[in-house]
Amino acid sequence: MIYTVTGPVRKEELGVTLSHEHLYWNSENVEDMYFEKKYDEARVAHQFDVLLPVFNKLKQAGCDAVVETSTPLGGQNLKLMQQLSKASGLKLIANTGMIFSDHVFRIHHTAFEKDVAVQWIKDFEEGLDVIDGVTIRPSYIKMFLSRGRLPEVEIKTLEAALTASKVTGMPIHCHIIEAKPVEEAMAYLDALKADYTKFLWAHAGKETDAALVEKAASKGMWLGFDMIKAGPDNYAKYLKLVKSAITKGYSDKILLSQDYDFYEEARAHGEQQTCASLFTDFVPYCESNGIDRKTLMDILTRNPANFYDI
Ligand SMILES: [Zn+2]
Repeated sequence: MIYTVTGPVRKEELGVTLSHEHLYWNSENVEDMYFEKKYDEARVAHQFDVLLPVFNKLKQAGCDAVVETSTPLGGQNLKLMQQLSKASGLKLIANTGMIFSDHVFRIHHTAFEKDVAVQWIKDFEEGLDVIDGVTIRPSYIKMFLSRGRLPEVEIKTLEAALTASKVTGMPIHCHIIEAKPVEEAMAYLDALKADYTKFLWAHAGKETDAALVEKAASKGMWLGFDMIKAGPDNYAKYLKLVKSAITKGYSDKILLSQDYDFYEEARAHGEQQTCASLFTDFVPYCESNGIDRKTLMDILTRNPANFYDI
């Protein structure tokens, strides 16, 4: 089952999916939504007006679902998500997860990973909120690893995510911007005998380390080629990545997306916004460079359905 803001759907019903986008990224005023289930109605109404054209354009371009990767303390707004989903017909998927600062961990270090896991399990079991009669469950855990060597707080957060994933079945969507921390994360996954098929290296295309990408895929890890924003150089880069995934046999492990901040993009460019460019530009670009449309649409449909299914 895949949990959307309008209720659960079977994986066969998900359709063509952008697996990593932000409706809006923000970290102010967050406790009101996540902890108090309170929404700023005027803000919801304003953002709805800005974002609906984006979702309508996506729908028109052939997109069926969007994974919102902003976390509860990063601007995730379930009420806005549900309203946009109902108005546009797109399915929207939410997460639970959080960035913890080192100072929080230093103070709350006893049982930190247990407490965090308990919170994420509760988010899944009880739902993040109940809106319009729908218990909105997260369909995945979002977490972040920083650059360089991993600080203890991130290792403990990874442990918490692995525990919560094991208990609930939620996959882990892990933001990793540099290739280096992936090796360290893999050592922990090995040591903890974690299920690699429940772990996504988001932004795996950012710093292209072909050997590491292949190694991760061979262990069963998912790879996010998820920064396919409009632009010729970027398209050439991602075409190459997708092509090598196909020829090397791990195209069933890649998730494609753009990683836009839809709100920022829509505010900055109005009708010229490129939030649907993966469909309107990148797919045709790939077609004219030797990857057929069906292969791409399969990747955009089957892979997210497999990864996000619980
Ligand atoms: Zn992102």
